[in-house]
Amino acid sequence: TRTPVNVTITGAAGQIGYALLFRIASGHLLGADVPVNLRLLEITPALKAAEGVAMELDDCAFPLLRDITITDQLNTAFDGTNVALLVGARPRTAGMERGDLLAANGGIFGPQGKAINDNAADDIKVLVVGNPANTNALIAQRNAPDVPAERFTAMTRLDHNRAVAQLAKKAGVTVEDVKRVTIWGNHSATQYPDVFQSVVGGKAGFEAIGSDQAWLEEFFIPKVAKRGAEIIEVRGASSAASAANAAIDHVHTWVNGTAEGDWTSMGIVSDGSYGVPEGIISSFPVTTKEGKFEIVQGLEISDFSRARIDASVAELVAERDEVSKLGLI
Ligand code: NDP
Repeated sequence: TRTPVNVTITGAAGQIGYALLFRIASGHLLGADVPVNLRLLEITPALKAAEGVAMELDDCAFPLLRDITITDQLNTAFDGTNVALLVGARPRTAGMERGDLLAANGGIFGPQGKAINDNAADDIKVLVVGNPANTNALIAQRNAPDVPAERFTAMTRLDHNRAVAQLAKKAGVTVEDVKRVTIWGNHSATQYPDVFQSVVGGKAGFEAIGSDQAWLEEFFIPKVAKRGAEIIEVRGASSAASAANAAIDHVHTWVNGTAEGDWTSMGIVSDGSYGVPEGIISSFPVTTKEGKFEIVQGLEISDFSRARIDASVAELVAERDEVSKLGLI
């Protein structure tokens, strides 16, 4: 039998946590043959709710679920962790400036980065879901100097999946026939979902959508970038199951690899590729293999795409400068 993998989830008693935990425990994160220990980190007032979720996990009698730890202590939560899903974050409330939001989250992700640095397993992989995800990931990464920088990632897979679904609908193909979509930049309204490299139903993506530039600019790009707000408006609550699903996809792809001829989108520490300043956490097209990823190189970037990538990257640079000014990195 295999040794269980330690998976830590922060904000485990929240909406996304509730949609995430049962799928991790049933083998969808790492594989149907990989046992898991769950470490649930919550703030003290939410510990009781986390206990309730743990009771439900018990009641599922998942064959792969070995052990559940519930704690409000960082060092316990990240002790020997192999995979950390950082979901809990401070949401933006009315009247909050970007600086206030970043400062509040710095108080969460700085100490978590340090606890990961001091306690996690050598093969630790971190996915930040809690917003502002890219900059929260940067804060955690910079507080974990002993962990290789590429182990800290931010989630743009939900944006990626949303783009795939919209393209499939428009072209009248199944989602499996949509490949090589890229989300560039920040997980925010400035993100750039790029169809120009995509292959849809075996054709160049732009051709597959009828070379419809107006649809691309007026429908597709804002649709993907603002889908979260649309879900809130229609459902009356923010997306949780689709966000949890994307977190599962992100880690599963990172661990198990991308399919031949395809790639995915991940927020990762920039190495300067495509003119994205080194060190910020920006979304790129990546291939993965045996737990490692590489940025897809050599893509031709049109002026249309360049302007949009640059705008989103500029926002990330501004966020980095802000957290640097606040002494968080
Ligand atoms: P959710 O579980 O719905 O969301 C958690 C985080 O995920 C938010 O920052 C949210 O950002 C973000 N997120 C990223 N992508 C998406 C998406 N596509 N759709 C929706 N959300 C997305 O929040 P809850 O309030 O239900 O739960 C949060 C939990 O975290 C609470 O139980 C709280 O106690 C806990 N918490 C734990 C901390 C810790 O362990 N140290 C610290 C802070 C909170 P956005 O706000 O932009 O929607």
